[in-house]
Amino acid sequence: MPRGMSTKCVHLEEDEGCIKNYGAISFPIYQTATYAHEGVGRSTGYDYSRLANPTREHLEKVVASLEFGTSAVALSSGMAAIALFMELFKPGDHLIIDSDLYGGSIRLFDNISVKNGISFSRIDCYKDDIESYINDNTKAIYIETPTNPMMNVTDIEAVSRIAKKHNVLLVVDNTFLTPYLQNPLVLGADIVIHSGTKYLGGHNDTLAGFIITKDKELDARFKFLLNTIGSSISPFDSWLIDRGIKTLSVRMEKSEKNAEYIAKWLKEQELVTKVIYPGLPEHPGYEIMKKQSRGFGAMITFQVVSKEVALAILEKVKMIKYAESLGGVETLITYPTTQTHADVPKEIRERNGITESTIRVSVGIEDVEDLIGELEKVFNDIQEEING
Ligand SMILES: *Cc1c(COP(=O)(O)O)cnc(C)c1O
Repeated sequence: MPRGMSTKCVHLEEDEGCIKNYGAISFPIYQTATYAHEGVGRSTGYDYSRLANPTREHLEKVVASLEFGTSAVALSSGMAAIALFMELFKPGDHLIIDSDLYGGSIRLFDNISVKNGISFSRIDCYKDDIESYINDNTKAIYIETPTNPMMNVTDIEAVSRIAKKHNVLLVVDNTFLTPYLQNPLVLGADIVIHSGTKYLGGHNDTLAGFIITKDKELDARFKFLLNTIGSSISPFDSWLIDRGIKTLSVRMEKSEKNAEYIAKWLKEQELVTKVIYPGLPEHPGYEIMKKQSRGFGAMITFQVVSKEVALAILEKVKMIKYAESLGGVETLITYPTTQTHADVPKEIRERNGITESTIRVSVGIEDVEDLIGELEKVFNDIQEEING
């Protein structure tokens, strides 16, 4: 019987037998680097934990199942996942990438992939004519939707048709919405990437990354690369991320509800000049989101009247933490210009609309009244200071 997303977060059908020996409800942490062989040529299926570890494998199956993939690899961070993915390519290859992406991804492409002979066309995948950038060396289209931090929404199905027509891979970084709200593989993508550090782990306490696919050949390459490069996640961190995933559905529901409320509230504020949240009907990606995802997520980007006001907000928040990262139970407020996107060349940042007045919020699962209460106090204090 097919299972719903919330059930899939809690139970992995095929692994329920593995706890039969002791009745343990929580999947065991196999804290081992290596495995004894019963005899020559008789492996248990596990030889060395860089290649395979039962706890990591359990997590990989859970994430693959949530993304409707056939397999996943779990890595030590989201960047480890993206770096490993880039090993699919060789000098001369060309990729089309979204202009607005997580800053670390841009840093990797600009500083490491380019050095390795890979070239990029950096375009706005949500509006530019992608097809006109495809050439004989193009191997992949790499997108985020919604993008970090400007929340541009790309029609995954439409891009996947272009990718298939030209026999290039469509890769989607699905960190912002999580498999609970959006499944790119179902919409035609070939590869899904996650920073598991964010919503999947959900508690701002563990780094993790994933690559998910439904293609046997790609999966074999990722497993080979993981074994060769060695950036796999540890057994204990695998267990922490799996534990986080068990509550993914309730966390996403609650934080999204909070985010909708806060986005509407922000719109009413005098100090705020623009609120970018794809769950607002005026957002240009609203209709596409309704078609391709089951919700709008809990990330909000907004612009305030000046850099000074932006800095004052960051200085004054208390319960809401001024910190990088997103997707945890705690509400975090981020300043992309000097934090997540500091290494993105200034002209690209500005072209994408990231200014010194841009603030990003990852809405957590606190009581929305308390979040609004704190923001209200911060905004009032600033207004008073302005009024003298
Ligand atoms: C954080 C993030 C990454 C990088 O993941 P790490 O776990 O921090 O290495 C990649 N993509 C997106 C969209 C992210 O938010």
